Amino acid sequence: MNNKIRLRFAPSPTGFLHIGSLRTVLFSYLIAKKLNGKFILRIEDTDQKREVKGAIKGLIKILNWVNIKFDEGPILISQKKIKDIQNSKFKIQNYLGEYGPYIQSERLDIYKINLEKLLKTKKVYHCFCTPERLQKIREEQQSKKLPSRYDKKCRNLSEEEIRQKIKAGEKFVIRQKMPLQGEVIVYDELRGEIKFKAKDLEDHVLIKSNGIPTYQFANVVDDHLMEISHVTRADEWISSFPKNILLYQSFGWKIPKFIHFPVVLNKEGGKLSKRQGDVSVEDFKEKGYLPEALINFCVLMGWHLKKSKIKNQNVNLDEEIFSMKELIKLIEIKDMRTSSSIFDIEKLNWMNGYYIRKMNLNKLTEMCVPYLIKNKLIK
Ligand code: GLU
Repeated sequence: MNNKIRLRFAPSPTGFLHIGSLRTVLFSYLIAKKLNGKFILRIEDTDQKREVKGAIKGLIKILNWVNIKFDEGPILISQKKIKDIQNSKFKIQNYLGEYGPYIQSERLDIYKINLEKLLKTKKVYHCFCTPERLQKIREEQQSKKLPSRYDKKCRNLSEEEIRQKIKAGEKFVIRQKMPLQGEVIVYDELRGEIKFKAKDLEDHVLIKSNGIPTYQFANVVDDHLMEISHVTRADEWISSFPKNILLYQSFGWKIPKFIHFPVVLNKEGGKLSKRQGDVSVEDFKEKGYLPEALINFCVLMGWHLKKSKIKNQNVNLDEEIFSMKELIKLIEIKDMRTSSSIFDIEKLNWMNGYYIRKMNLNKLTEMCVPYLIKNKLIK
């Protein structure tokens, strides 16, 4: 194993695993394993309002079901096992790996220490603007058809003013200073250079008024401390990319490689949402789709096997049918697409049929039983 290669999946526990997220975690896992590295699960639960009870457990279970294995991260231990461990001389360990805790709400002390460091760099500032004031400027900007941006009112407060306000008990957030002019140029492994104009970047919040960090802060601190070598995530995060890079630079930290995977859309080109039918992996599992079919289907949303490879590797593969093991061998970052992919249920149905027909009859019968009972076809 190459200890320098470390990739992670960092879901927020907001419910079920979306099929688009399955594609993200799958690509990340395949790259990690292809490069002989480690794969880490980190739970990003700093937005407690969005958290759904039981979602962490559900996530771990469903990822297990699709056969995506983590080398580090939170693990589930049965109640019985906890008792056994308590009764033995071993200590209870809910994490696998040395970089824990792997759940962000358990890392608040770590964020505090790193915020102290960051405040010294003067690349961030205290902002005392009230939610009412922010709302007012947002409305004004909207009425003028301007993008809603914080107007940087608190960016130049003096040390003394800040001290006074804190002393007076005024609530504050910490914002990141964006450059006032020029461009920020970042590098994505799939897309190459991406340029952002400074005027389009907002001095966004890194630490909320309750002291809890936002994604932008916690994600960078954790990726650094967990020594993530490749940050792989969905391309909805591209707008955060320049802010993240600037934060690495403010801390003086090495910048990992970044890969943003293209979005998965519905047939009409819109967002793939629950309204159009099943979108969660749990729904598909419930309906009898096989994990092998879901994995094989997902990988083709954004990657394909180059024809030349089929010859070179001397593999006699149907060009679209791949097992996880084959995928680990064949996947290459450069063969991934940057354009969006379309979720095609007919293709998934075809693929599921293929895997069902290939299945050993005894195993298939065994797997069918719960469905037959549920539909009252047998007792
Ligand atoms: N918590 C973010 C999400 O669930 C993770 C994005 C990332 O991988 O950095 O979308």
